[in-house]
Amino acid sequence: MQSGLLTELGKSLLSGSLDDEILMAQTDGPTAVQILPEANVIKIGGQSFIDRGRAAVFPMIEEIVENLGRHKMIIGTGAGTRARHAYSVGLDLGLPTGVLSVLGTFVSMQNARMLNFLLSKNGIPFIEPAQFAQLPHYLAERGAVIFFGMPPYIYWQRNPAMGRIPPHRTDTGSYLVSEVFGARSMIFVKDEKGLYTADPKKDRAAKFIGKITVSELEELDLQDLVLERGVTEMMRHATHRRSVQVINGLERGNLTRALNGEHVGTIITAD
Ligand code: ADP
Ligand code: MG
Repeated sequence: MQSGLLTELGKSLLSGSLDDEILMAQTDGPTAVQILPEANVIKIGGQSFIDRGRAAVFPMIEEIVENLGRHKMIIGTGAGTRARHAYSVGLDLGLPTGVLSVLGTFVSMQNARMLNFLLSKNGIPFIEPAQFAQLPHYLAERGAVIFFGMPPYIYWQRNPAMGRIPPHRTDTGSYLVSEVFGARSMIFVKDEKGLYTADPKKDRAAKFIGKITVSELEELDLQDLVLERGVTEMMRHATHRRSVQVINGLERGNLTRALNGEHVGTIITAD
C-alpha cells in the first residue's frame, strides 16, 4: 500500500481500533459541512396537532403554502393518538420495542401522506428515507418536502431505560434530520406555547419557560416534557443544530414568525 496517500489520522484509523477513545477523540476533524444550510426542518405534531383535524391542519397548510418561495421547508410528521393505540395493543400482545417502533413508523407515515395529499396541488412530494438522496432536488424545485418523523430504526430501535415504548420517535427523528443536513432551523409545531414547568393541560399553575439550556432543563428534572427526551440528549453532541424552537402552531402566524427567525415559543439551546 502507498502510505503516502494516507494522512496521519488515516494511518492510525487503518491500524487502530474504532473503540479506542484516544483515537476517536482525533476524528473531530475539519468543520462538518452544512449540506442544506437554507432548509428549515418543521415537525408537525401528531397528537398535539394533526389529530385535531381540519381546525388545526387547514390554517397550517395555508401558512406553509404562504411560505413557499420564501423559506425552504423539510416537513416531518408526528404519529399521535393512533400510534398510542397501536402501542397499547402491541404492549398487551407482548411485542418488543423494535416491533412497536415498526407500528409507530406506519402511523407517522399515514400523517405524512395526509399532509402530502393536502399539499399535492402545490407540488410538494412525500419522501421516504430511501428517497432522501433526491431531497436537494425537490427543495430546489418545489421548496418543500414531507417525510415521516420516525427515525427509520424499526427493529433496531434501542430499548428505553424504563418500560417498552420506543424512546426515539418523531421529535427525535425530525431533529436528527436538521442536525445531519446542517439545516437553518428546527421548529416543533405543537398545541402549546412551548415548554412549561409542567404539562399545562394538567397543571394550571405551570409556568412558561421562554428560553432554557439543555443542562438547565436536566437540572429542573421535570416529570413531563413538551419534547422527547431524546432530542435534548442528542443536542448535547450536536455539530450544527444546537438550538430548537417549540411553537404553538394553533396561533396563526407563529410558524411564519419562527421561520423569519423570531422567538415566539420556547428556545432550547445546547449551551
Ligand atoms: P406531538 O404531537 O408533537 O408528538 P406530544 O403530544 O407528544 O406532541 O407533546 C406535546 C404535549 O406535551 C403538549 O401538548 C403538552 O400537553 C404536553 N406536555 C407535557 N409536559 C409538558 C411541559 N413540561 N411543557 C409543555 N407541554 C408539556
Ligand atoms: Mg410526541
